[in-house]
Amino acid sequence: MTTTAVRAPQYSLLIDGERVPSHDGKSVPIHNPANNNETVGEVYVGSIEDAKEAVDSAQAALKTWRETTPRARSQVLFKAADLIDGASDEIASTLTKEQGKPFPEALGEVKFSSAVLRYYAGLSPTISGRRVSLSDPTEFGFVLKQPVGVCVAITPWNSPVVLMVVKIAPALAGGNTIVVKPASSTPLADLMVCDLICKAGLPKGALNVVTGSGAVVGEELISNKKVSKVAFTGETETGKRVMSIASRGVKRVSLELGGSDPMIVFEDADLDRAVDGALLSRFRNCGQVCMSVKRLYVHEDKYNVFLEKLSERIKKIRVGNGLASSTRMGPLHSKSQKDKIKEQLEDALQKGAKVAYGGSEPKEEELSGGYFYLPTIATSVDTGSKLVQEEVFGPILPVFRYSTFEEAIALANDSPYGLGASVWTRDLDKANRAADRIDAGTIWINSFHEAQVDLPFGGLKESGLGKEMALEGLENYLETKSVVVNSKGKTRPWL
Ligand code: NDP
Repeated sequence: MTTTAVRAPQYSLLIDGERVPSHDGKSVPIHNPANNNETVGEVYVGSIEDAKEAVDSAQAALKTWRETTPRARSQVLFKAADLIDGASDEIASTLTKEQGKPFPEALGEVKFSSAVLRYYAGLSPTISGRRVSLSDPTEFGFVLKQPVGVCVAITPWNSPVVLMVVKIAPALAGGNTIVVKPASSTPLADLMVCDLICKAGLPKGALNVVTGSGAVVGEELISNKKVSKVAFTGETETGKRVMSIASRGVKRVSLELGGSDPMIVFEDADLDRAVDGALLSRFRNCGQVCMSVKRLYVHEDKYNVFLEKLSERIKKIRVGNGLASSTRMGPLHSKSQKDKIKEQLEDALQKGAKVAYGGSEPKEEELSGGYFYLPTIATSVDTGSKLVQEEVFGPILPVFRYSTFEEAIALANDSPYGLGASVWTRDLDKANRAADRIDAGTIWINSFHEAQVDLPFGGLKESGLGKEMALEGLENYLETKSVVVNSKGKTRPWL
């Protein structure tokens, strides 16, 4: 008897409203990080020609889409959200398989994405300019808000769906067209979502997806003269390169980059709630979240008791395949991610750090085929070590003690990053003073690190430029124009 190997599904590029192969037909497998022998799907490797074709198609669609009324645009986005909700289980399980995060987290990401689409669907009809009185009574002015043009979204692998939708939704709500370049290792759920958004009634070419490498497809999209705006989420070093290429065409750029968020536990904090916040903020998505807590500072009077509570609770985090219902933490996304955090921990250990919990792979045989690592607590970490100085994109939490308010603020700010931060205290005055002094785009007070669509999100310092979500997220995709009207038919004499 012969057996036929089951082929992984083939995912196409999405250009001009059609699912198409890449020009040269080359494709690569996408692997499951929980089991690197499993191929989740095959995806085409896009080329410069594919990227150019997608931009041409987005430019051709621009006239139709920008002239579509904001209310009609809104209806398309509402419908897209419904279609995504209808397929959310399938999208989320694909996301778990290609990215590694537990299914409930993947489902939460997909549902949050449809909420983002609805949010911008609601805002689209509210886009408006204003009439302005001018000093010359025979004239008045208009401020117009218009689409920017063809936009490009380049996105990372850690939360690929939502980080793509927070770009697509405001871009389309504002009347722009867009080309997406997803991360090479997580394109599948993105392709499924974009296919549904197109099916909601977009004109062909208004939304295109070109999979392929950042260095080839990404750089072509950024430098293409027909592109007006680039929205990028990824590492700070890549963001700097994106910014420098975009600057050659003086293009609009928004950058959501790396982070090393501090969490400060003051002496009067509710310690149990703070432990909950630390665990969720650090170990969700196996620590691969831009706004994870990456440095934890606890007041010296509470350090021992806090560490005891944390160590007790961390033992309960069940590591495993993201599709198993018992799993709380999935694998790291790739071998390179795992190697990197191991190297960062090793560097800290060489400088005198100690492992209070974890610090190794889990022992279970069934996890040996994936990139699993135990949730880890490190103490006595030297502030000069990589665990503090670099972004740690994995499940390692260094815990420090401090003695004064001023010291805590100085430690929190001692980083090139400024994405988020949290403070835990029952004293609102102290919380407000800390929020005022910490250099971060979002400060959570007695709350864990989570983005909200109604609030602008984005980093300070080397964590980024510009904001996503909320009204500010829409403003990114609108051009402001002034119009002066002479109403009386008289021209002011020149001399
Ligand atoms: P990368 O910077 O490696 O990649 C991000 C995207 O950029 C990918 O699509 C990648 O393509 C593409 N890319 C790579 N090189 C270039 C280039 N030269 N020109 C254009 N595009 C390029 O980031 P990761 O995917 O590793 O994502 C993790 C990082 O993202 C972390 O630093 C994290 O903090 C940050 N992040 C920030 C967030 C924020 O809101 N501030 C939110 C989430 C993540 P390819 O996959 O082909 O390499």
